[in-house]
Amino acid sequence: MISIQQLSVSYSEDKKVLDDLSIDLPLKKIHGLVGLNGSGKTTFIKTLFGLHKADQGVLCYNEKKLTKKDIAYLPTENYFYNNITGNEYLGLFQDDIKEINLWNELFQLPLNELIDGYSTGMKKKLAISGILHQDKPIMILDEPFNGLDLESSRIIRMILLKLKEQGKTIIITSHILETLTSLCDYIHQLDNKKILVSKSKDEFEEFQKAIHQRIEKENSQIINKLF
Ligand code: ADP
Repeated sequence: MISIQQLSVSYSEDKKVLDDLSIDLPLKKIHGLVGLNGSGKTTFIKTLFGLHKADQGVLCYNEKKLTKKDIAYLPTENYFYNNITGNEYLGLFQDDIKEINLWNELFQLPLNELIDGYSTGMKKKLAISGILHQDKPIMILDEPFNGLDLESSRIIRMILLKLKEQGKTIIITSHILETLTSLCDYIHQLDNKKILVSKSKDEFEEFQKAIHQRIEKENSQIINKLF
């Protein structure tokens, strides 16, 4: 179990982003974290990874303090040292070049070229490859599908399902609910500084419908005035 108890995080005295948030996440599952832009998803996972200090709260993995060593973390934005090749970057995580080349049959990256020349999508794929080479029990991926083409998104989805089968616990954020419903075992909604609801697979359809209905109700009057 990953256990998060009474977590509060703020950026300044008057800017609390998470407030007394508690949740238990079962292991060996894929957890989706949804919420509006600015609801605190990135802050939440940066805090889990230890990049942001909590004001208060207890974070545990298997009843011990959660540490960076337990986690492979993919940030939303990828910052690379651009003056090395893709191969040199992946070599930080994996010294078996054959293994790197086999993985790269999936992503088809020009690994002998400098990262400087990579497109945004290629950098994302390189960052994801790096994460997949790290053998950590927990993977936290912040918006992994953003900026990826259909084929790469599908490949990553297939890999994540395999990793779950192998016993990894995966936490993925997205501001688009549909990207998570086909992949996750649980979806947790972050709203008003807390986890508002957690839903399991059999409840996703109803959950998605309710969210769509609320958005349509809130906006239909304006749209009807416009058209
Ligand atoms: P999400 O990932 O759900 O879009 P974030 O965690 O990025 O949300 O942001 C939550 C809130 O915290 C937003 O209001 C955002 O403006 C604010 N915020 C995020 N990072 C910082 C920062 N470094 N300094 C001050 N405020 C921040």
